[in-house]
Amino acid sequence: MSAALSHEWLNQRFGPSVRFAEPMSRHTSWHAGGPADVFFEPRDAIELSRFLEMLPQRTAVLWLGLGSNLLVRDGGIRGVVVSTHAALHGLRRIGDTEVQADAGVHCARIARQCVKWGLGPAEFFAGIPGTLGGALAMNAGAFGGETWNHVVEVEVMDGHGTRRTRARSEYTVGYRHVSGPGTGECFLAARLRFEPRPDASLDTIRDLLVRRRQTQPIGEWSCGSVFTNPAGDHAARLIESAGLKGHRIGDAQVSPKHANFIVNCGAARAADLEALILHVQKVIQERFGVHLTPEVRIVGEAK
Ligand SMILES: Cc1cc2nc3c(=O)[nH]c(=O)nc-3n(C[C@H](O)[C@H](O)[C@H](O)COP(=O)(O)OP(=O)(O)OC[C@H]3O[C@@H](n4cnc5c(N)ncnc54)[C@H](O)[C@@H]3O)c2cc1C
Repeated sequence: MSAALSHEWLNQRFGPSVRFAEPMSRHTSWHAGGPADVFFEPRDAIELSRFLEMLPQRTAVLWLGLGSNLLVRDGGIRGVVVSTHAALHGLRRIGDTEVQADAGVHCARIARQCVKWGLGPAEFFAGIPGTLGGALAMNAGAFGGETWNHVVEVEVMDGHGTRRTRARSEYTVGYRHVSGPGTGECFLAARLRFEPRPDASLDTIRDLLVRRRQTQPIGEWSCGSVFTNPAGDHAARLIESAGLKGHRIGDAQVSPKHANFIVNCGAARAADLEALILHVQKVIQERFGVHLTPEVRIVGEAK
């Protein structure tokens, strides 16, 4: 951080929106991770733009939704973390089949609201415990649905605070992967298109979630699936076949319920979680010659 970004200076301009040495364990679903130098929770997109405008060139910025797909290492994050979910929470219908949703909106809310509007298929969003911003960054999907199948256009903000609208065609989208034209841009909002589904029902969402609870350690501290599925196979099947269910490093454990989940049993450090990820990768490579790619995003410095 440059001298211009002293704590006092930031406090004067942004008051309670800015915090220092904020433990990221408070903001990740794994409940692990070291401190972020600067943690910024803007009140709205205008304050976010003002903040980014005055950041020195090359300041590292990490966009944060609900931290449900993030492993932050124990040494924490040098630079700025911007949390979107408290500020960007607008969700409205803008036509017969279109919805405008801000990046901080929880995916589960999109699922429920679309059912109430008689639109779908949007029930799959209920299976993603993150924000729309995170779902856009990951092309998150569940129960056969995927986020970008519904994107018409997105509103983004670059690292200098400039807003623009981008069409879906500007992005390359794949399985849990999205790349776009602008480096370091954050998603502010998206226009999503669905179909009329007058018979859509909240019961469908309930049934999907009940089914999921039977096979996944929902409620435990995890980041969902740790690895993407290799072509033609399932990461969970490989990990279970290798006898790794229940394998533990410190308080990090391969879930006995679902082999592609790693759970924090209480006091796991990020280093334990990462060591277990590396161990699983090594065993699967040796046994089956398959490289498992982490779906979870690993960021920050080791301690
Ligand atoms: C119990 C459990 C079940 C899960 N099940 C599923 C599932 O079925 N399907 C699935 O796809 N995922 C699943 N996940 C993973 C996770 O919920 C998704 O990846 C989700 O989309 C992450 O959203 P988030 O808001 O938490 O993002 P975060 O974890 O905060 O961030 C994830 C990535 O997105 C980036 N990002 C976040 N917000 C923005 C933004 N506004 N602009 C630009 N980049 C941004 C971050 O920098 C980071 O790289 C599960 C997780 C858990 C804990």
